[in-house]
Amino acid sequence: MKVYYDSDANLDFLKDKKIAVLGFGSQGHAHALNLKESGMNVCVGLRKNSPSVEKAKAGGLEVKSVAEAVKSSNVIMILLPDQNQKKVYDEEIAPNLKSGDTLAFGHGFNIHYKQIVPPADVNVMMIAPKGPGHLVRRTFQEGSGVPCLIAVYQDPSGNTKDLALAWAKGIGGTRAGVIETNFKNETETDLFGEQAVLCGGSAQLIKAGFETLVEAGYPPELAYFECMHEMKLIVDLYYEGGLSRMNYSVSDTAEYGGMTRGPRIITNETKKEMKKILDEIQSGKFANEWLNEYNSGSPNFNKLREENKNHTIEIVGSKLRSMMSWLKK
Ligand code: NDP
Ligand code: MG
Ligand code: MG
Repeated sequence: MKVYYDSDANLDFLKDKKIAVLGFGSQGHAHALNLKESGMNVCVGLRKNSPSVEKAKAGGLEVKSVAEAVKSSNVIMILLPDQNQKKVYDEEIAPNLKSGDTLAFGHGFNIHYKQIVPPADVNVMMIAPKGPGHLVRRTFQEGSGVPCLIAVYQDPSGNTKDLALAWAKGIGGTRAGVIETNFKNETETDLFGEQAVLCGGSAQLIKAGFETLVEAGYPPELAYFECMHEMKLIVDLYYEGGLSRMNYSVSDTAEYGGMTRGPRIITNETKKEMKKILDEIQSGKFANEWLNEYNSGSPNFNKLREENKNHTIEIVGSKLRSMMSWLKK
């Protein structure tokens, strides 16, 4: 598989374009600021009274309404929450798109699940960073970057892949490595990764470990250091050198205990459930469930958020972290 780096991408393809980044949240602020510092002509599209207007202006960016930003640009990146994109697209983006424009996404959800169906004379591409937006920004400032996936969904102008690679370079992605894929594969693997491993799996593993220690009578502060704080230190080793670097760095006791006990935690049953989760993503069942939940006012989502916020690990953790002077508040 070809992996693209800085020398494979040319910023000139974007230099003469007017770029609109819609949204200034986790991904939006990172794309807009990184592209601007890469010398691109960027404006930000936000809703009226958005709390982000001042932040974007403070970053030296021009802010417009979504409709104005679309009208005045020829490359338009939608970095709004996935569940809002269809409504904003129908009401403010679609009526202002011009033939030959390029519509861009940071995740394939709305194209793949047919929530947004762009006109045939508009290019459609994706640049999906494989990391949280705040790290897309921070690593760029540090001189490194977050790996990205790019994809082209439709290409009436014939050079959409060049634009996607230029965008990935402008946000720092080609410093780490860029892979070309399609909207289907990006959407399905991204949802699976966040549900089974990154957000769902890891959070549940941490909580279950923490609860087991606390229920057995150990102090919650100790359980926090063991199950949450140390997780980052271990994951940093995976990030730098894979499983073998982690095993090299921990004690032989930890390595033996981990290799013999780990498979009792993540069992064949767990893998069967992962397969079911993947089936629900592939069939569109998850997407329907999530859009229905959002469109009926997110009752279950809000309840779960509240439960998580009040978990002992969050209360204890916020006290302990407040003493860690190196952590950003
Ligand atoms: P956020 O929730 O962090 O930010 C959303 C932004 O959209 C905010 O600036 C918000 O405005 C704005 N917004 C919301 N509704 C509207 C509206 N109706 N009209 C105008 N602006 C609106 O989103 P993310 O950055 O998390 O996600 C954006 C996209 O990036 C999604 O497709 C997501 O899947 C993808 N992605 C996200 C990753 C991440 O790290 N979070 C990782 C990879 C991809 P306001 O400031 O006014 O509230
Ligand atoms: Mg995602
Ligand atoms: Mg130990």
